[in-house]
Amino acid sequence: MLKKIIGLIISMLTVFKHLFKRPVTLEYPEKKITQPENFRGKPVVGNCIKCMTCTKVCPTGAIKIEDNNFKIDLNKCIFCGNCAYYCPVKAIKMSSEYELAANNKSYLSLVYDIAKKEGEDNVS
Ligand code: SF4
Ligand code: SF4
Repeated sequence: MLKKIIGLIISMLTVFKHLFKRPVTLEYPEKKITQPENFRGKPVVGNCIKCMTCTKVCPTGAIKIEDNNFKIDLNKCIFCGNCAYYCPVKAIKMSSEYELAANNKSYLSLVYDIAKKEGEDNVS
């Protein structure tokens, strides 16, 4: 009986202790967390020179380059950042975008038009 009362008091104290602490969760999606600088979100492609290095270092074969179409299959991508790290001209960047859920697999296939300059809308 005494054990139960002590247990109850300890749990009440624990609740009381946390009552005045700031919550660690956010009211997503109204509030969003700011990602750290080294966060690896959606890969974005800019001024590519078609050296093909990224296709060789991608461990899952998620990157295909055909003509001016640079395709990244997010079904395969594991967000390892290899492509961005080894690109000699830093044409790939791992952005902070993480809201990538889709209700159709085809939406997870990113196609960048690498004939367009950086800053232009080059993704479809
Ligand atoms: S982040 Fe990794 S898995 Fe994704 S495309 Fe780049 S190299 Fe491939
Ligand atoms: S994104 Fe970078 S590594 Fe990949 S083909 Fe273009 S220039 Fe080469």
